[in-house]
Amino acid sequence: MSPQKTVGVFALQGDVREHVHVLEALGARTRPVRRPADLEGLDGIVLPGGESSVMDRLARIMGLKDPLIAALRDGLPAYGTCAGLIMLAREIRNPAPDQGGLGVLDVAVRRNAFGAQVDSFEEDLDVPAVAAEPVHAVFIRAPAVLQAGEGVEVLASVPASRLSVPAADPGLDGDARLPVAVRQGHLLATAFHPEVTGDWSFHRAFLAGLRPPRAPRR
Ligand code: GLN
Repeated sequence: MSPQKTVGVFALQGDVREHVHVLEALGARTRPVRRPADLEGLDGIVLPGGESSVMDRLARIMGLKDPLIAALRDGLPAYGTCAGLIMLAREIRNPAPDQGGLGVLDVAVRRNAFGAQVDSFEEDLDVPAVAAEPVHAVFIRAPAVLQAGEGVEVLASVPASRLSVPAADPGLDGDARLPVAVRQGHLLATAFHPEVTGDWSFHRAFLAGLRPPRAPRR
């Protein structure tokens, strides 16, 4: 059996417990990440769902933001769900006052693009890259990926007609589809929350994609 992986879960805000539960059930060791030292020796990190503007502010206050950016640039594998996707994004089209992000994933996102909490929706998505069966996805005040760079692989999408009217970008016609699951090298992100639905395909794919363990010393 391969040695156990240690996966950090950004733990300053968000649905940390849900991710810890899934990751541990899948055999990983987890570590809450609140300060720079918590990043040491991780095989990967998960950025949970929650509120990205609060995550950003707390990460700055705790001095975690810059070391986290450095670690991600250095190749630390990351999986972001919902607010975590917003955190990873290169551009946030409608940031809260003072909100920035980690800027490592080459996508432009719009927060709350599918409407408010009451507009939450569920959809079964075909995601051949991670699962043979459709993945049941729950969108809660989810962000939309309005633009994705060339190096970004779109793993799943929904019709742009799902967008709430004020968030709809001109230029998007009714037949357009918007990415809701993306991968760029070591970065994986979904606009929805597999950690709350019991469909662990994305967590499984993330763990499987972590750097292989170093060869044991003879
Ligand atoms: N709307 C939230 C934000 O801007 C994300 C919501 C979520 O993670 N479910 O961060």
